[in-house]
Amino acid sequence: MENNIKDKVIVITGASSGLGEATAKYLAAKGAIVVLGARRESKLKSIVAEISILGGTAIYELTDVTNKAEVKRLVDKAVSTYGRLDVMINNAGIMPIAPMSETRTDEWDSIIDINIKGVLYGIAAALPFFEKQQSGHFINMGSVAGVKVFSPGGTVYSGAKFAVRAISEGLRQEVGKSIRTTTIEPGSVDSELKLGTSHSESAKYVNEFYKQAIPAESVARAIAFAIEQPADVDINEIVVRPTMQD
Ligand code: NDP
Repeated sequence: MENNIKDKVIVITGASSGLGEATAKYLAAKGAIVVLGARRESKLKSIVAEISILGGTAIYELTDVTNKAEVKRLVDKAVSTYGRLDVMINNAGIMPIAPMSETRTDEWDSIIDINIKGVLYGIAAALPFFEKQQSGHFINMGSVAGVKVFSPGGTVYSGAKFAVRAISEGLRQEVGKSIRTTTIEPGSVDSELKLGTSHSESAKYVNEFYKQAIPAESVARAIAFAIEQPADVDINEIVVRPTMQD
């Protein structure tokens, strides 16, 4: 049966694991053409191979989202290969958490560079194509931590996710007449994200918190729901959390 996802050209950052990988596989299984960006080539290669074996269409481009030229190259590759861009999923992110009193300024820099500036670079790369086409869809990865501050230790991460939500809404207000904008706000989801915390007390807390995590495909289904709506329907925000989560 035809669906509103089939043949759409969809760029996904942070597609080498977790939510990005699950979303790439889920959308490809529904007939989307997926263009994957991340830094780990071996992971990207095997995901592309897996999608291809199952009859889907996928390519990848090595991309560090802190580098605006690389993000532009990823998006340009999608357009030059397939002649179009339908959806830009700004998903790449990290979550090293620690109390503010630790003043881990290098981690703060990385959170801001990847989780905020990475999203902005994705917007900058895709927006000119969307404006030219007079259509397109941004899906930005927020978090429940962007709705309610994630404490203890998640202050900077939450700040970044609040920023993603604000940027998505501002973008919608500016270009939303023809371009759709969705913020996805997951609770705890099983992925490699929890491994990024090196502060030992915070890591214990994260491990406990992630015992209730739901599979990454739960978020992929939410993303597919936003994409498959008819063009005149814009799903602006989806919160998807484990039923057990506070
Ligand atoms: P993972 O750690 O499994 O995936 C993170 C992805 O981001 C990887 O593909 C990684 O690829 C990529 N990435 C990290 N840094 C960069 C970079 N500098 N440039 C390009 N890609 C990068 O975690 P998740 O799948 O869970 O996280 C995906 C998104 O979902 C994040 O934005 C996260 O904040 C958000 N989220 C996750 C939740 C969860 O509970 N899992 C809950 C709420 C939101 P590589 O290392 O190969 O570059």
